[in-house]
Amino acid sequence: MTGSGADDRCVFTKDIQTAVKGREVEILDALGVPYRDGRPHINCPYPDHPDENPSWRFDKRTGRAICTCSSHSILQVLMKIQGITFDAAKIRAAEILGRQDLIQVRTGGKPYQRHDACSLLNAPADNRDDELPFIYLGTRLGIEPADVPRPLTPFVGIKALEYFDPPASSRANPKLVGSWPCAVFGTVGADGRQHAHRTYLTADGCAKADLGIAPGGKPRDPKKSAKLADGQASTAGCSVIWATRKRLATLSFSRGSRTRRSGQTGFSLRSKQRKSTSHPGSTQAASRRSRPIRRRNW
Ligand SMILES: [Zn+2]
Repeated sequence: MTGSGADDRCVFTKDIQTAVKGREVEILDALGVPYRDGRPHINCPYPDHPDENPSWRFDKRTGRAICTCSSHSILQVLMKIQGITFDAAKIRAAEILGRQDLIQVRTGGKPYQRHDACSLLNAPADNRDDELPFIYLGTRLGIEPADVPRPLTPFVGIKALEYFDPPASSRANPKLVGSWPCAVFGTVGADGRQHAHRTYLTADGCAKADLGIAPGGKPRDPKKSAKLADGQASTAGCSVIWATRKRLATLSFSRGSRTRRSGQTGFSLRSKQRKSTSHPGSTQAASRRSRPIRRRNW
């Protein structure tokens, strides 16, 4: 048993529990448990249960293993058969299922920031500088950051966000390149689909970061879409919404859906709307806001 254990990787319990649902037998196969040979019982595969009369079976309906010694979830089966901890079993299960994307790498005991839209837009306060997007856009537009119109869709600045190269193979992990400041803009589709895109920035926030050359020989692109969340459909057509004070008064957005992690704010267009109207821009800036900015190659 290698690769799982006292390393700096971790998998969120909820993530792996969702991922294994309906795929438990793939893990049994990877472990070499001959559950198909049972009628329905086989000899208990746990090293600590000397089972003379076959008494272990796997119940596909509940996704649990049942034996005279106990009943176990598939992760517990993994722990028992391989003699590993729960943390290691979660990593092993992700590897078996080809879900390396669920494996987080800790830095200084903290897991990396997740890269799906909702997680990015709810990045922890201690890693936030929400002026960053406007420092960057202001430099691009040649105006003061305070004069850059605020979008209706959510935005955040992240002080340090990891950039990963894609895994070299389906069984490999994404490779950490480094961390840079990042501007993240939430986007919405006309049908309500929500996503985000990110732009990695230089240390001063004024330009796109130089991320070096990727293994393929091309420069890494500092513009990246957020990672697709589990089950997320296409993000085609999702855009940042820029609007004027006048249009804000007529646009009515319902509050975005709450995320699965309760307590976190999803896309709250209404609150951004208030924020935007109270933005202390000059009259000149206000007149600039009277026409929406065309989407540029940010
Ligand atoms: Zn048993």
